[in-house]
Amino acid sequence: MIDTHAHVHDRAFDDDRPAMLARARDAGVDAIVTVGCDVEDSRRACEAAERYGLAATIGIHPHEAKDAPAEIAAAFDALRERFGARVVAVGETGLDYHYDHSPRDVQREVLRAQLAYARARDLPLIFHQREAHDDFVAALRAGYDAASQRGIVHCFTGSSEEAAVFTGEFGLALGIGGVVTFKTAQPLRDAVRRAGLDAVVLETDCPYLAPIPYRGKRNEPAFVAETARVVAGVLGVDVATVTARSDANARRILALPVAA
Ligand SMILES: [Zn+2]
Ligand SMILES: [Zn+2]
Repeated sequence: MIDTHAHVHDRAFDDDRPAMLARARDAGVDAIVTVGCDVEDSRRACEAAERYGLAATIGIHPHEAKDAPAEIAAAFDALRERFGARVVAVGETGLDYHYDHSPRDVQREVLRAQLAYARARDLPLIFHQREAHDDFVAALRAGYDAASQRGIVHCFTGSSEEAAVFTGEFGLALGIGGVVTFKTAQPLRDAVRRAGLDAVVLETDCPYLAPIPYRGKRNEPAFVAETARVVAGVLGVDVATVTARSDANARRILALPVAA
């Protein structure tokens, strides 16, 4: 079982990282993608990936867009030169108009640069989108080539209509995490049911957004099993089917190292 979106290099795990990763293995998680949120954080993600046999991504989160380097491509190239095949995607990148930690025009510009980088280097993308659907779709229409590129809209919590745009127009997968287990998330469960197994990849986004029964606690990759259980119930299939299809979808999108 693959956790397609985690932040296991986060400081929240500094006290027990090896034990946390052992719990993940015990829960059946055999691959973890640890996701970078700025250049320095991406370097930490790559170092953790190298040390613990994980996959990493390099990206600038919309929250951090205001501090992006002038030469994003050069910074990313340097990380890929150093860490090679450990780097499996660009992201997380996108737009977040809920928190507005960076000005919106800067968010759009930094997203545009990362779309162009991923296209030029033939890398898949991990997207973060919150309360910015229309501008995000406009950015994809301008800078994302659905015919040749692949990607995941992580922590998807939108409507069936939004899901249909992401999967239908752009061929993107929906990253489904702990939110789908929350009592109030019936619209999301409906969207997952309509999107179907081909569109779904499982994630934790740990240390954030722990699924029930861990809600409010620190999240970790082992808990992806709880999300898999709920998605299986939503789709009316067994858990093994959900994890097998999620893993296959993830491997189709991300060039994961074998036995990562
Ligand atoms: Zn995110
Ligand atoms: Zn994340």
